[in-house]
Amino acid sequence: MVHYGNCNKICEKAVMNQRTINRAIAITGIGLHSGQPVDLEFHPQPVNTGVVFERSDIADCAPIPASAFLVQDTMMSSNLVFGGTRVGTVEHLLSAIAGLGVDNLLIRVSASEIPIMDGSAAPFVGVLLQAGFCEQDSPKKFLKIVRPVRVKVDDKWAELRPYDGFELNFEIDFDHPAFDKDFQHAQLRFSTQNFIEELSSARTFGFLRDIETLRKNNLALGGSMDNAIVIDEAKILNAEGLRFADEFVRHKILDALGDLYLIGYPILGRFNAYKSGHALNNLLVREILSDKNNYKFVTFDDNVTCPIEYLPLTSLTVEG
Ligand SMILES: [Zn+2]
Repeated sequence: MVHYGNCNKICEKAVMNQRTINRAIAITGIGLHSGQPVDLEFHPQPVNTGVVFERSDIADCAPIPASAFLVQDTMMSSNLVFGGTRVGTVEHLLSAIAGLGVDNLLIRVSASEIPIMDGSAAPFVGVLLQAGFCEQDSPKKFLKIVRPVRVKVDDKWAELRPYDGFELNFEIDFDHPAFDKDFQHAQLRFSTQNFIEELSSARTFGFLRDIETLRKNNLALGGSMDNAIVIDEAKILNAEGLRFADEFVRHKILDALGDLYLIGYPILGRFNAYKSGHALNNLLVREILSDKNNYKFVTFDDNVTCPIEYLPLTSLTVEG
């Protein structure tokens, strides 16, 4: 019997249970499009709540569930719209939440977009680790893929196939001097530790010419080399260079992990994608959920039989 943090219950350590955070915590960042400060608050939630957003700048805002069916546009990011209320650029934050194995969480945001931070999921991982985690008294529910589902648009495709664990494979194909041909494919065998070490700090990237066009349309006003890898016609402009030789494709996996978490549960399956993006990732999730024969829900009696390794709560909690 182990007692975890501020949770008022005693949990059997062996059972694979749901998780929320141990205490409320807040951070501030800059909105990519507005260039204005955005406040984020994270609050623990009861079992079976899932991940929900709320706009703290709107009085009596209805909660906005992190659901693939609420994604209304995928221009450069995944954006949720519910009852006319928008929460944009959710994918890097959702990637952190998925990566840390958090099932239930309320995110209050003071603007229509999640702050861009450094363009990766690492700052969100940092703040959630500071809050610590709390095991809850209900089994963690996994969505297990039981037959292959594939979506395709032009030469781009994405699929999920049955697999005992969670693995993500991604290939990009940029014919550009800044993109080394040897580093356009990456694979992540998902565990919390692999996520934190190999994926969470991979930054988003953009081409200078696109950023200039967006600015003319009053978008990407907060975009800078502090929150993206910026590429001109020939090279990477950031003085510090890349964090990983294959940082671009790692970031595409980071995005996919966040987009796939909009399915509402951790996934058991193998994700393969070629040149996919937010729109195609969303189409894949909707396609899977459209037919109950594509998946089933499973739970695990203990951490040993669960094919996904989440770090124990104690080693995840850090002082902040
Ligand atoms: Zn991204």
